[in-house]
Amino acid sequence: MDAITPMQSILDDINATIGQSPDRGKVADYIPELAKIDPNQFGMAVCLADGREFHTGDADTPFSIQSITKVFAVALALGKVGESLWSRVGREPSGTSFDSITLLEREQGRPRNPFINAGAIVTTDTYLDGSTPREALGGLLRFIRDAADDADIHIDETVAQSETRTGHRNFALAHYMRSHGNLLHAPELTMGTYFHQCAVAMSCRQLARSGRFLVGGVGPRLVTKTRARRIQALMMTCGHYDGSGDFAFRVGLPGKSGVGGGILVIVPGQASIAVWSPGLNAYGNSKLGTEAMEALAHQTDWSVFS
Ligand code: GLN
Repeated sequence: MDAITPMQSILDDINATIGQSPDRGKVADYIPELAKIDPNQFGMAVCLADGREFHTGDADTPFSIQSITKVFAVALALGKVGESLWSRVGREPSGTSFDSITLLEREQGRPRNPFINAGAIVTTDTYLDGSTPREALGGLLRFIRDAADDADIHIDETVAQSETRTGHRNFALAHYMRSHGNLLHAPELTMGTYFHQCAVAMSCRQLARSGRFLVGGVGPRLVTKTRARRIQALMMTCGHYDGSGDFAFRVGLPGKSGVGGGILVIVPGQASIAVWSPGLNAYGNSKLGTEAMEALAHQTDWSVFS
């Protein structure tokens, strides 16, 4: 694509149109601290593989990246135990909501993939093994800071506490997996780590930078090329839960969403993109963020499909 020069105007145009839409979806309210977020915010940032960066709107405002951390967590867990991770968690799309309990019962406590909550709890449990939660979270933050080349990335303790107090459904998933022998630690320990992991706060500019470890080019090489490809395959097939097919159809690029309203999208070999708008669609993915990614992919002609 020849979008280097027009990239800034494409982003500003998306911000001025989609970013200002009155129909913004609904902010997540099952985590009380997220229910307080003003839905009238919109930001977007693009990091190209050659190092150039563009952004628009509220791209410097930190937000709770929530399930987007599952991308870093699976990289960390694979780095620690390698392919044996797949004996505890699958790599198939679930077709169910991110916090579904029913599939877990049918499949004897082995979650479908590392991006639904149950699967992410297993990856947290994996990178936690052999360390304290503080050490494990320190390792996670180091990975994210290295990926973003930015030491100023932190965990929002208020959000972590808020979810720890109210995350009964996630505790249920953890207890259920423990009953099947698929949780190495006491549920309270793994879940304390998981809730803190989900509470990492980043701006769109930081998040887009952090995604470069999957792009290639000038990004830091934190995982092998094969592993980066596989993580992107999981993002494509499972990154938006039961909305993954719809996202692939509309955007055509691997992406990972979070209930904080962020989405990280990778254009293999070309770019890392972050968008944030707190209102969610029926699948729990950012409503305007999805629309913005769709518009950007269309206008740049970026797709993994020729
Ligand atoms: N912390 C959230 C949860 O576990 C993450 C979910 C999400 O972002 N989809 O419910």
